[in-house]
Amino acid sequence: MKRTAGQDRSITAKWRPATRAIRGGTWRSEMGETSEALFLTSGYCYDDAATVAARFAGEAEGMTYSRLQNPTVQMLEERIALLEGAEACRAQATGMAAMTAALLCQLSAGDHVVAAKAAFGSCRWLIDSLCPRFGIETTVIDARDNAAWETAIRPNTKVFFFETPANPTMDIVDLAFVCGLARAHGITSVVDNAFCTAALQRPLEFGADVVAYSATKLMDGQGRVLAGAVCGSEEFINDKLLPFQRNTGPNLSPFNAWVVLKGLETLSLRVAQQSANARKVGQFVEGRVPRILHPGLASHPQHNLAAQQMDDCGAIFSIVLDGGRAQAYKLLDALELIDISNNIGDSRSLMCHPASTTHHGVGPEAREDMGVSEGMLRLNVGLEDADDLIEDLDRALTAAGL
Ligand SMILES: *Cc1c(COP(=O)(O)O)cnc(C)c1O
Repeated sequence: MKRTAGQDRSITAKWRPATRAIRGGTWRSEMGETSEALFLTSGYCYDDAATVAARFAGEAEGMTYSRLQNPTVQMLEERIALLEGAEACRAQATGMAAMTAALLCQLSAGDHVVAAKAAFGSCRWLIDSLCPRFGIETTVIDARDNAAWETAIRPNTKVFFFETPANPTMDIVDLAFVCGLARAHGITSVVDNAFCTAALQRPLEFGADVVAYSATKLMDGQGRVLAGAVCGSEEFINDKLLPFQRNTGPNLSPFNAWVVLKGLETLSLRVAQQSANARKVGQFVEGRVPRILHPGLASHPQHNLAAQQMDDCGAIFSIVLDGGRAQAYKLLDALELIDISNNIGDSRSLMCHPASTTHHGVGPEAREDMGVSEGMLRLNVGLEDADDLIEDLDRALTAAGL
């Protein structure tokens, strides 16, 4: 293997994001391939017994087993780290494997976590169901309220965990304040940045300690594979995450890593165009529905905060209808172009009813508490022509009596 400029931090430090997204992390085999090679291998062979012993002892560089290292996965990890501005990154099989690893690698029985109540359904399950089973105390708060973070801190608080914008309420968390508060109290902030990616929002620049991803969403961006990633300091990744990951094995498949590497090459283009489409579609929908939760529109109660920490509005927004589930289903069932689907970040426009899908599992009380109402619909705006999406929505809104 030959390291290219993309593996040299003294060179990549000078590169702008678009260059890092195409060339960051690239290694070349002796074939000199232009596109990154796909190493579909579980293990490695050695010239002699002493070589393998030196690698296992950490005295020589080199691969030993794909749960520990894989060249294709390492290329992806370096590329994501460069985009994020992080010292290090490790990839996982799914976004939920990333969230689980980011939390459990640093928490023990007796520790306390403060988390945002508005969150992806499975992220809430980690906080409400998994952590307590292992003696980890948790408190969920309205993450938009800076004072609530401060009030929730206990002597044993180890982690703050939140996403911004939140799925699907589009709540915005004040990154600079909340991450600064964590730092001041020796608490590790873990930010789930799936709705943005580094193309829109870089939490480390606001003082976050760890950024965790579902790379299934905007990073792949074409609805093909599941993937996850955790970014942080060398110290966090090497001392906390790696021992957990290497021994519990939530690793990303090299094939899926390769697909995400290809996805990253077009990430900034897709995110910019999907944001532009989402703004145009949002402006059309705004006049037709009782409530729209769209960080790019002045009607969002935290529009200014969103503008301070996000480069653009992103692909996703939610609407709330007065007619509850029945009206929401009517709208969904009248769609012709936009698919009924619970994924986000895809280049296809997708719409879903969170209360009966992504947030079904959190139960009616927690849904009510976090603001996921029966009349809420979440839209991922894709790369189709925005006018075709507007025509489709126009028809569906009319069918739903709007
Ligand atoms: C989808 C999603 C996840 C989970 O990611 P998977 O790749 O589906 O496991 C976590 N957090 C947020 C905010 C998400 O949107």
